[in-house]
Amino acid sequence: MEDNYRGSVALITGGSRGIGFASAKALAEMGFDIALCSRNRKELEKASEEIKKENVNCLFQPIDVSREPEVITFVESVYDAYKRIDVLVNNAGIQLNKPFLELSSTEWHSVLAINLDSYFYFCKYVGKHMTEQKGGKIINISSVLSKFALPGRAPYSVSKAGIEALTRILASEWAKYSILVNAIAPGHVDTELVRSDIKRGLLDEKIMQERGVLGRIGVIDEISSVVAFLASHKASYITGQTFVVDGGFSIKK
Ligand code: NDP
Repeated sequence: MEDNYRGSVALITGGSRGIGFASAKALAEMGFDIALCSRNRKELEKASEEIKKENVNCLFQPIDVSREPEVITFVESVYDAYKRIDVLVNNAGIQLNKPFLELSSTEWHSVLAINLDSYFYFCKYVGKHMTEQKGGKIINISSVLSKFALPGRAPYSVSKAGIEALTRILASEWAKYSILVNAIAPGHVDTELVRSDIKRGLLDEKIMQERGVLGRIGVIDEISSVVAFLASHKASYITGQTFVVDGGFSIKK
């Protein structure tokens, strides 16, 4: 993608690794200045060093995205530093794989707080600046599990269905400010999120590969390329949509 986004700013939640890091890297390659957050300072430092190799600015802050005051402080520090935020990639998320009757209400609320409440906070506090700027792009990372049922994924799937509903509502509410809001629903992608469950025997790699007609798990660049497209000027007539990027998971019988 051509490099004509110098001076534009992208904020990526959960940008220290996995899909978030790949998205930050892809946007940096386009020329965006970058802001990252996640909970682990060391991982953020490493990610930031990689991103700066693209000759862009990259700032970061360790925060827990489920805590509203921390989100406010981070968003305002990004705005103070860059004086604008053009693209928000809501990506930070966790997976919980547990039978419904074994779920505690603490676990339920924790998944919803990290995966859904945080999207609300970031849309709200970044959206405030985007409405004033009269423009921006919000890209929410959802999952095919927003619509497809895998046992043990109740809070995760509910959080992702909520993200897609929020995407449509905000696209409709903020069209008058030229803010485009879309979601991406990945199938299985090779990241720490799934690797840790494979190691613990909670996921079976072969079954995961066979869920899509392409017969393999996706790689992070296959999601970040769609993030880059949606963040680009080429995606100027798309809003309120969810792009399924799943190797054919959702069309397999
Ligand atoms: P990773 O576990 O590799 O990355 C998750 C990122 O989110 C990390 O940077 C992590 O950093 C951050 N994060 C998690 N919890 C918090 C928190 N409370 N506060 C701040 N940061 C947090 O996962 P993926 O890259 O796979 O996942 C990214 C998104 O993609 C998620 O929303 C996930 O649901 C979605 N997705 C992933 C799929 C897959 O197969 N991998 C499939 C479909 C959707 P840290 O832990 O240090 O805070």
